[in-house]
Amino acid sequence: FTEGLEAVRDEPAISPDGRNLALYANTGLISDINLSLAAGCDGIGLHRTEFPFLIRDRFPGEEEQADLYRRVLEQFAPKPVTLRTLDVGGDKSLAYFPIEEENPFLGWRGIRLTLDHPEIFLTQLRAMLRADVGLGNLQILLPMVSRLEEIADVRRLLLRARQELAEEGIQARIPPLGVMIEVPATIYQIDRYCDQADFLSLGSNDLTQYLLAVDRNNSRVAGLYDELHPAVLGAVQHVAQAARRHGKRLTVCGGMAGDPAGAILLMGFGIEGLSMSVSSLLRIKWVVRRVPVRRAAELANRAVEMDSPEEVRRMLRRTLEEYE
Ligand code: PEP
Ligand code: MG
Repeated sequence: FTEGLEAVRDEPAISPDGRNLALYANTGLISDINLSLAAGCDGIGLHRTEFPFLIRDRFPGEEEQADLYRRVLEQFAPKPVTLRTLDVGGDKSLAYFPIEEENPFLGWRGIRLTLDHPEIFLTQLRAMLRADVGLGNLQILLPMVSRLEEIADVRRLLLRARQELAEEGIQARIPPLGVMIEVPATIYQIDRYCDQADFLSLGSNDLTQYLLAVDRNNSRVAGLYDELHPAVLGAVQHVAQAARRHGKRLTVCGGMAGDPAGAILLMGFGIEGLSMSVSSLLRIKWVVRRVPVRRAAELANRAVEMDSPEEVRRMLRRTLEEYE
């Protein structure tokens, strides 16, 4: 299995029945960037901007952030780079910005925190827009969205950031604005999100956690956390169908995209972009090149009707063995 991996490095991610999939990298550290360049991907589907915030003892300034973002955008241009706005709170806390909460995963996290602190948010948005000048491959992605107004609020801040920069003589572009589909509420308003966002990115890690009410980091309930739970798959299918109806770009960026079994199901749901940790890229490309989309669609339709994640896994394990 692993022997065949190197052989696909320079090959396109096309299924045997001719469907082209875009494979993107999830990054955060500069070292991920170099590795994903070497693995040959179609761009960055999720750049987690938290890391520089986590390792410093204060909020990084605009200049510092713009330099970091510029380095990422430059390395991949003209391929798209999706920078996600700060997603702290939940399990990621900043020593210099303590948050005390009983239920941090249901608390002040992601977009909720940054919208409450426009000075932190504007600094980040200005840094992103500045980094994109002359390159034009930036996309911005919003974490933990649970209300449609949050998109409009960010669009206002983006316009303000561009206006301020223009007054300083910097002509920046408003990039495509995407929403993470990771809070279950967004599934039930998915048509509205398709209308208002420029693209969608489904975060299967948090979506699984919130749909199943299982803390993704709690070992006591780890046995209950499974991205292949038929309820999660049904939600993913629903989002995929809505995105297709609206002609909206949809990528999946949680662990499901980097798991061979998950990737087959996502292909089967008709999802055309998968974003994953760098270490999964070659394996998933290998899978895409082996399994016909037609077959993947049959498996996906069966999986959503199954009773348990174990049943789904058994079916996909058998499928993968067939292709190895
Ligand atoms: C997710 O929730 O699926 C995701 C990709 O984002 P993170 O793991 O950073 O929360
Ligand atoms: Mg998430």
